[in-house]
Amino acid sequence: MTTDDLFDVTIIGGGTTGLFAAFYAGLRGMRTKLVDSLNELGGQLMALYPEKYVYDVAGFPKVLAKDLGKQLIEQGMQFHPTVCLGERVTALAIGSDKIITVTTDKAVHRSKTVIISVGIGSFKPKTLEVPGVERFLEKGVWYGVKEKERFRGKRIAIVGGGDSAVDWALNLYPLAASTTLIHRRDGFRAHEDSVKQLKASPVTLKLFYEVKAVQGNTQLEAVTLINSKSKAEETLPVDALLINIGFLADPGPLRQWGLQLDGNMIKVNPRMETNLPGVYAAGDGASHEAKLKLIATGFGEAAIAVNFAKTYIDPTAKAFPGHSSEMDWPATERGSGGLR
Ligand SMILES: Cc1cc2nc3c(=O)[nH]c(=O)nc-3n(C[C@H](O)[C@H](O)[C@H](O)COP(=O)(O)OP(=O)(O)OC[C@H]3O[C@@H](n4cnc5c(N)ncnc54)[C@H](O)[C@@H]3O)c2cc1C
Repeated sequence: MTTDDLFDVTIIGGGTTGLFAAFYAGLRGMRTKLVDSLNELGGQLMALYPEKYVYDVAGFPKVLAKDLGKQLIEQGMQFHPTVCLGERVTALAIGSDKIITVTTDKAVHRSKTVIISVGIGSFKPKTLEVPGVERFLEKGVWYGVKEKERFRGKRIAIVGGGDSAVDWALNLYPLAASTTLIHRRDGFRAHEDSVKQLKASPVTLKLFYEVKAVQGNTQLEAVTLINSKSKAEETLPVDALLINIGFLADPGPLRQWGLQLDGNMIKVNPRMETNLPGVYAAGDGASHEAKLKLIATGFGEAAIAVNFAKTYIDPTAKAFPGHSSEMDWPATERGSGGLR
C-alpha cells in the first residue's frame, strides 16, 4: 500500500525520543507521522521496564517508567500526529524530488524529512538455553515483568548481574515470599548504588552459580543450580524464574539505507543531521562525540533534530523555536501547532 499523503516529518520509532520529537514537531506546526514496529508507544521504557522507577529525568525526582511513558504519550499526541503502529520500517530512499520514502512491512510513507529514533533497534531478551526453560515459558519462567502482582507471595529466582536483574530483585523482594539472585560471577554490571542496596537487602545471593536445568510438572517447581567453581549441584525450589541476562538488539535493515554508521549507531553532526539530506537521527541510536544513552539526552537531541528539520523544509524559519511558555495555550486548539 502506498500512502500518497506527504508529511513534513516522519519519525521512525515511538520511544521516549520519538515521542518528544512528535510533540516538538507539532509545536513547530509540522505535519507529523510516527511509525513504530511495536503495537504500543513508549519504546524501551514501556516494553522492557514499565514497573521500574526512573530517577534521572529532569522534573521528576522519581517516576515509574510506565507513568513517564504515559505522560510522554499524552504530550506526544497533543498535536495529533498520524501514528502507525505494528509497522517495521525496512527501507528508506530519497527521490530526485528530495521526497523521502519510508517503506514498512505494511505501507510506503512519503515525507519531506525523517527523524530516525529507533533506539537500539528492534529488541528482544537474550534467552537462557537450558533444558526446561522453553516448556515453562510464561508458566513460571519470565523474561520480563509486566505486572509485579504476578510475583506476590512467590519464591522467586532472578538470573543476571546487570541493572535489570539487580533492580528487579530490589523491586520484587518486598512482595515475594523469598528472592534469590543467581549470578555467575561476583562482579555486577549494575549501578554501584543498586548493588549496595542489594547487599543490604534480604535477597539471597548465589554468586558463582548458573542455572543448569528447570524442573516441574505443569508448573515450574525448582531450578537446578551448578556452582561454577566447585561444580557442585543443588536444587532450589521456586515458583518463578525471572531471566534478565540482557537484550539482543537488532539494528535490522538500517545498514542498507546508505547511512554513515558507527557500529550499530547512526553518525550525526551537532544538528543531528545524518549524511543523508533531510534525514536526522536522535536518541540511543544516534552517535556523536558526546553521546550518552539516556532519556534526558534523547529529549535534547529530539528537540535539536526537529528544529533543524524545520529549517530544512523552510529555510526562512528560525531553528530556535521560541518559548513554549510564551505561546497562547492550548496550542492544540489551533490545529496544527503553535510555533512556526
Ligand atoms: C532496564 C533499563 C533501565 C533503564 N533505566 C534508565 C534510567 O533510569 N534512566 C535513563 O535515562 N535511561 C534508562 N535506560 C535507557 C533508556 O531507556 C533509553 O536511553 C531510552 O529508552 C532511549 O529512547 P529511544 O527513544 O532513543 O529508544 P527506544 O526506547 O529503544 O525506542 C525506539 C523505538 O523504535 C522502534 N523501532 C526500532 N526499529 C524500528 C524499525 N525498523 N521500524 C519501526 N520502529 C522501530 C522500537 O520498537 C522502539 O519502540 C534504561 C534502559 C533499560 C533497558
